[in-house]
Amino acid sequence: MARLRGVPPTIFAEMSALAVATGAVNLGQGFPDVDGPASVLDRAAAAMREGANQYAPGTGVPALREAIARHQQRCYGLSWDPASEVVVTTGATEAIAAAILGLVEPGDEVVLLEPYYDSYLAMIQMAGGVRRPVTLRAPDFRLDVAELRAAVGPRTRVVLLNSPHNPTGAVLTRAELDAVAQVAVEHDLIVVTDEVYEHLTFGGTVHTPIATLPGMRERTLTISSLGKSYSLTGWKVGWASGPAHLVGALLDAKQWLTYTSGAPLQVAAAYALDDEPSWPNALAASLEERRDLLCEGLRAIGLPTPTPQGTYFATSDISALGWADGNAFCRALPERAGVVAIPVQGFYDPSRPVSDNPGRQLVRWAFCKRPEVLVDALERLGHADLRAD
Ligand code: PMP
Ligand code: GLN
Repeated sequence: MARLRGVPPTIFAEMSALAVATGAVNLGQGFPDVDGPASVLDRAAAAMREGANQYAPGTGVPALREAIARHQQRCYGLSWDPASEVVVTTGATEAIAAAILGLVEPGDEVVLLEPYYDSYLAMIQMAGGVRRPVTLRAPDFRLDVAELRAAVGPRTRVVLLNSPHNPTGAVLTRAELDAVAQVAVEHDLIVVTDEVYEHLTFGGTVHTPIATLPGMRERTLTISSLGKSYSLTGWKVGWASGPAHLVGALLDAKQWLTYTSGAPLQVAAAYALDDEPSWPNALAASLEERRDLLCEGLRAIGLPTPTPQGTYFATSDISALGWADGNAFCRALPERAGVVAIPVQGFYDPSRPVSDNPGRQLVRWAFCKRPEVLVDALERLGHADLRAD
């Protein structure tokens, strides 16, 4: 398929299938092994029994759009009109897809942080856009503002941000966001920002939505999802908020993708945002302990692992164990140790030769698992021979 030429199949499906096939502990695909709040599950069941089972409005059920608007106001002081400036999507994935399909014309350039979440690549290419990656480099994965400026040209239309950032766990600082905002205003760019890990930051690290910066409200489309904040990744309830012209562009595409997203889950998502507002903070506190458990354990077995400031992912440099290629390491790991991780090289531009891939020696581990599962994985890793042949 020409539109998907060069886009590799999603690594998450392959690695989760490998974990199931080998009985390995799955620290690959990022999904929690404890479900979100029982009260929210009950609300979904009740919504089904109460008859919220037919198509929701294409923009989302009003109660959820209102709850999202209240969330943005309460957490960040952003005011959005729930009728015209908020839209519910089938996960953040659909919001990203529809935003790109609705905003990027063939030949338009999209500047994005590399490494990047794999669906960005597929969607930019399906829209006929041209990607302009700006690389965050290990070990601290900071934004190089000069590189950002160099990536922007006359055909640039969109900056696609992700903070807190998957897979590096970096959280853009206020200074970095200021630099992005300055470039966006100077070049009249739209910013699409994927903030699905907005509540999952650690050690006092503050997540600032770029929409709150001067000059950004009118040019920013902010995307988030219930999945990460409430440990309900399988529900695929996401949303976007921003000025009506950007939400409208997203809707132009969304109406032809899914038209509308799951109705009873939206009722329960509204309940989660309104009635369980502190649940994501408690999740972040517990994730911070699990982050430390995993990162310290990985370092103890000889894998340099910087401490992430957000998300539920940590990345290790496997060159310390003599490996040159994360793909080879991750494919050998289930058999050697009974653990699955994700090679980070697939989050870098596929046009790069492997030798020029800054992520080729990085692997990603998800720590959104119960502590005993992390301990089990660390014990397995500790007992295995992990050195390259
Ligand atoms: N963006 C990023 C950065 C992610 O890590 C994920 C996780 N799957 C998504 C988007 C997709 O979110 P959702 O499951 O809500 O579609
Ligand atoms: N966001 C999760 C991750 O990065 C899940 C991705 C997926 O399954 N597409 O692991």
